[in-house]
Amino acid sequence: MPIYSFACRSKRCGNTVDELMKYEEREGFMKHMRCAACGRGFKTKLTCHAKTASQWADSWQAGLSSNMYSAALGHGVSSRRHEERLMKQKGFIPESDLPAHYFEEQQEKNNKEAVKNEKQTKRYKAALSSGKTKEEAVVEAFPAKEMIDSSSS
Ligand SMILES: [Zn+2]
Repeated sequence: MPIYSFACRSKRCGNTVDELMKYEEREGFMKHMRCAACGRGFKTKLTCHAKTASQWADSWQAGLSSNMYSAALGHGVSSRRHEERLMKQKGFIPESDLPAHYFEEQQEKNNKEAVKNEKQTKRYKAALSSGKTKEEAVVEAFPAKEMIDSSSS
């Protein structure tokens, strides 16, 4: 992946950042990231020089003092990777990291739960209408074994 250089849109600010990314990611980067110094957006820097290993190391060092602002986190980050790491620490999971069919499986789980709840409600109502007390109906509708099974699954 190439390294792209971006400059803060404010002429007076002069902040620049270097980011390793795909060509098609530049657009999203410029929309998403804000300059940590002044809060304005970035534009692609016109003067692009080839990065040598030592220059890359320099910019990585410089990146440790955050010079871009993550809108998602609400504070400065040193790179997109830094942002991703922080997002994960805060419990945000990028959709790309979720297992395949995650949402489908969640949906199916919810459906099963709903069917079970409906059965229990029916049993409860049936027990009540057969003249049992509410306490007896609860015991009948929500058997302890089933409760334990569902909490451990
Ligand atoms: Zn700036």
